[in-house]
Amino acid sequence: MTMEKILNYIDGKLIKPVSDHWIDNYNPAEGEIYSHIADSDEKDVAMAVEAARKAFPIWSEMSAFDRSNILLKISEGIDRNFEALAKAESEDNGKPLKLAKAMDIPRASANMRFFATAILHTETQAHQTDQQAINYTVRSPLGVVGCISPWNLPLYLFTWKIAPALAAGCTVVAKPSELTPMTAFLFTKICIETGLPSGVLNVVHGLGSKAGQAIIEHPDVVGISFTGGTVTGKKIAATAAPMFKKLSLELGGKNPNIIFADCDFEQAVSTSISSSFSNQGEICLCGSRIIVERPLYQKFVEEFVRRTKALVVGDPFEEETRVGALVSEAHMKKVLSYIDLAKQEGGEVVAGGNQIRLEGRCKDGYFVQPTVILGLDHQCRTNQEEIFGPVVTIMPFDGEEDAIAFANSTAYGLSATLWTENLKRAHRVSHHLKSGIIWVNCWLLRDLRTPFGGMKQSGVGREGGWEALRFFTEQKNICIKL
Ligand code: NDP
Repeated sequence: MTMEKILNYIDGKLIKPVSDHWIDNYNPAEGEIYSHIADSDEKDVAMAVEAARKAFPIWSEMSAFDRSNILLKISEGIDRNFEALAKAESEDNGKPLKLAKAMDIPRASANMRFFATAILHTETQAHQTDQQAINYTVRSPLGVVGCISPWNLPLYLFTWKIAPALAAGCTVVAKPSELTPMTAFLFTKICIETGLPSGVLNVVHGLGSKAGQAIIEHPDVVGISFTGGTVTGKKIAATAAPMFKKLSLELGGKNPNIIFADCDFEQAVSTSISSSFSNQGEICLCGSRIIVERPLYQKFVEEFVRRTKALVVGDPFEEETRVGALVSEAHMKKVLSYIDLAKQEGGEVVAGGNQIRLEGRCKDGYFVQPTVILGLDHQCRTNQEEIFGPVVTIMPFDGEEDAIAFANSTAYGLSATLWTENLKRAHRVSHHLKSGIIWVNCWLLRDLRTPFGGMKQSGVGREGGWEALRFFTEQKNICIKL
């Protein structure tokens, strides 16, 4: 059987990489290769940038209304191809098909719709300087931009970057993670069907160190929007900053989930199960450090562990599966090595802790039991480093000051979750948390109009809403003497 080849999308066409080299694409639930991905290099990136450069005058000068219409048609294309996209997202990533249908694909379509309509409602500012002058500010699209996205929420985060860039009038060279390229490939077919003008979006598949790095280094790429790990983010900043490129970096997290004794217990436990183990814990916003006020600690641990053990780890295509496969063998080994580290650091594994061998189609897949670890201090590596898997620690705390100190004790500052029925406390504690987003009595509720991004080593810049549209534009002030 010849395997499907995931082609680059350059200048409106699906084409092979110049080198004709290919990378194996694994289905992580089966541990088997199921397609081949273009192993692109700087030659493919150069072609993509050239196509984007040529398309820029046409796309950036098109009316916002016309751009909006095309992007809306793409979102309708996502809706029409919903089943195929959800299946591909699950096959590429290992996530439950049910989750891909409930979250990834609807949110990808919503990203396109949100920015397609947002661009119709932008404003500019004017300032009158006494009776002397009038100033007005105009924004214009940046130019050719690079959008680099990770593997955990493949189509969702890919569209989260390209939608505001395209809506703002930029042309794009994008690279999805080589671990999960299939939905971006299907997306490019939708772009062709929809009649997106050639060169407006170009997708170059391949390795981050080769294709990704070539996008960052290309002198004609004037802005970079990147989501991925903090180590990669540092490398990208080191290359792009001396070239004075505009940079938005959405990086890792080690998010606290703070549970006060006065919380709504049922809601806190059930949502904490989701915020710990959804998408196998491979969401940058997962609450991987749970801290519980001491009077509730024992009761919370018992109930949380009971429910963790009841989670069904299984074939991502099965309806009852709650936890699917990790994205790759290498990532599974990394997650398991952190469980070993936790034990060396004195942690007690009270649920999970091991790889699971399933039967049938998934016998060689990369499955790890949802894992709960107790007894660690806040400074140990297990509580400081991002594991990005189905592994959480639970620790007790005494009072608000403790909670804030523990929550803020890592180098990251992406998100935090807070459970309390006391409104004043919710405001007070939120105010002191060093996190870009704080969820009170909920998790992962997103309003796309709000700015999104991390503090400290979780990132630089904000995405979402107007912030994203602003990022992809440059502004100037025109001062006219009256
Ligand atoms: P990586 O940093 O490994 O990779 C992200 C993307 O960058 C991939 O497409 C990767 O390609 C590419 N890349 C790698 N090296 C370079 C380079 N030198 N130049 C340009 N591009 C490069 O992250 P993961 O894919 O492992 O994603 C998981 C990480 O993403 C976690 O840390 C998670 O917290 C973070 N994340 C952050 C979010 C946020 O909003 N803050 C949201 C979701 C995830 P390749 O795959 O080929 O290496």
